[in-house]
Amino acid sequence: MGNRAYNFNAGPAALPLSVLQQAQEQLVEYQGIGMSIMEISHRSKEYEALNEETQQLLKELLQIPDGYKVLFLQGGASSQFAMIPMNFLRPGKVGSYVNTGAWAEKAMKEAKLFGEVHEAASSEADNFMRIPALNEIQIHPDAAYVHVTSNETIGGAQFTSYPDTGKVPLIVDMSSDILSRPVDVSKFGMIYAGAQKNLGPSGVTVVIVREDMLQDLPKSIPTMMRYGIHADNNSLYNTPPVYSVYMVNLVLKWIRDQGGLAVVEQINLDKTNLIYNAIDNSEGFYQGCVDPESRSKMNITFRLANEELEKKFIKESEAKGFVGLKGHRSVGGLRASTYNAVPYEACEALTQFMEEFRQSNS
Ligand SMILES: *Cc1c(COP(=O)(O)O)cnc(C)c1O
Repeated sequence: MGNRAYNFNAGPAALPLSVLQQAQEQLVEYQGIGMSIMEISHRSKEYEALNEETQQLLKELLQIPDGYKVLFLQGGASSQFAMIPMNFLRPGKVGSYVNTGAWAEKAMKEAKLFGEVHEAASSEADNFMRIPALNEIQIHPDAAYVHVTSNETIGGAQFTSYPDTGKVPLIVDMSSDILSRPVDVSKFGMIYAGAQKNLGPSGVTVVIVREDMLQDLPKSIPTMMRYGIHADNNSLYNTPPVYSVYMVNLVLKWIRDQGGLAVVEQINLDKTNLIYNAIDNSEGFYQGCVDPESRSKMNITFRLANEELEKKFIKESEAKGFVGLKGHRSVGGLRASTYNAVPYEACEALTQFMEEFRQSNS
């Protein structure tokens, strides 16, 4: 594919080339119906089949046990930050949050609008360069739920194992690492993820919620903010983001056809090992931002000796066809996002560029 960039964008991010090509083929006419999937009712049999199949694919890939609902919502993961306390944080109860960085902080900020919030653990004192150890996590005795951010997309720290929260539901923001590795869904009351990092384009948010969480939701919640409404209506209460769900469907089939999440995890490890090795073997020229045990396998954050050199790195990388290597504006530095759809070859090319840049600048 001649002109495809080496895309390391943090989100929206790379999509598999074969998925884009398939979408292109079906754009004008979907499955012989004489129209695009975007041009038909969400109550049509074609969309209903797509809705069902996409849920089914997620259930298979994540081995979601019985007793969970898969929902396709809008408003991004950011809306979930508010919907979670609206639905689950009752008076007298406390939202218990593990503070691991920018996204966890945003989730807490919204929850404070609805009730009491407690920090179950925090790595702020270490500049969020690590994930708190499981034994640092203190669940509040009145916790309505515990919330964790499985991968901090901006800082670059990722959970490798999750706390056992007993009877208290564990809720996880998996926006930037869902489907990057196998996960035991039965540990969670709810998993949510905006699609635009690892699942497809923006516009749809996947929510996987245990059915017992949906009982006795407060009647005062606006209809669209109530998980129960979306569950009862099979994500068809109002018009769903049809095209985004369609794209997620294609991405899920692409993952399935590779052999599932264990295979994908190994590929992701191979990719990030390449880049982390380039950092670690650079004699300090490149410095990883995050403690090695907490390093993300999706967002690799690193720095150079000074900002001037970082600017030069970005400029020269762009000239060579690399995109998206600038760190988030709130933290600076450099970041390579290596989501599922970023090919191994792109990571190989990046490590080669990093080595050349080091040799000509040290
Ligand atoms: C990108 C991201 C979000 C925000 O997602 P939106 O869909 O833009 O609201 C939330 N949490 C994490 C971990 C993210 O990476």
